[in-house]
Amino acid sequence: MRLGDFTALSGAGLNLQAVFDLDQLPADAVAALRRCYDPAHRYRQLILIGHGGRSLWEAVKASGIGSENPIDDFSVRTVGQWFAEQFPDTTGEIIYPGDIPADLQALGRIAGWHHASPFMLGINQDWGTWFAYRVVLLADTNLEPSRPLQSESPCDRCADRICIASCPAGAMDGGSFALDKCIGYRRQASSLCKATCLARVSCPVGSAHRYGDEQMRHAYSISLREIERYS
Ligand code: SF4
Ligand code: SF4
Repeated sequence: MRLGDFTALSGAGLNLQAVFDLDQLPADAVAALRRCYDPAHRYRQLILIGHGGRSLWEAVKASGIGSENPIDDFSVRTVGQWFAEQFPDTTGEIIYPGDIPADLQALGRIAGWHHASPFMLGINQDWGTWFAYRVVLLADTNLEPSRPLQSESPCDRCADRICIASCPAGAMDGGSFALDKCIGYRRQASSLCKATCLARVSCPVGSAHRYGDEQMRHAYSISLREIERYS
């Protein structure tokens, strides 16, 4: 068993990594994976890779990738290169981004990255909500499994809960998150949330890592486009 060297990934902004033994993961967290990936490969481990903060966006821009999904394409390319260099004789397969329905939030909870915020994005003490899952890799590696981040939800001791009052749609006013209110508001011509989430921006946790305007516009225009496509 060896320690993973994630230096190259971190240098490219893919600065969150967690290694799991597939056999040690709860069955419900990997049920979809086991149904979908080729069991003949018998991968030993799952490597979850994410980003926190702004450095990934800067690396994507510096790369010059001009595709429709530059973050996904850059992440897949970077992880593929890293894996080939680190493990030249080892089988591996990127399953996210892709068609296999990986339960990213379940994996994030196990890694200690994810606590549910009132607006249903993941939050943790280090990054606030300014992180995301980028790549899931199944591999025949024999890496030291990661210890979960030990953190409580910042929301548990947040007295102001300013995110709730900051949502112009009142999507959290009923004590839970009303997705239909959020979507309905975002689709309005005069919406203030076409390219942002005012609730997310108002949260003080991890605010030093808040995405810049360009990254916010990119992320939220993609999500609005998906909303329009399926509405
Ligand atoms: S403002 Fe408070 S309740 Fe809302 S997401 Fe941030 S920490 Fe959680
Ligand atoms: S995107 Fe806007 S409407 Fe939706 S939860 Fe965030 S603040 Fe509320």
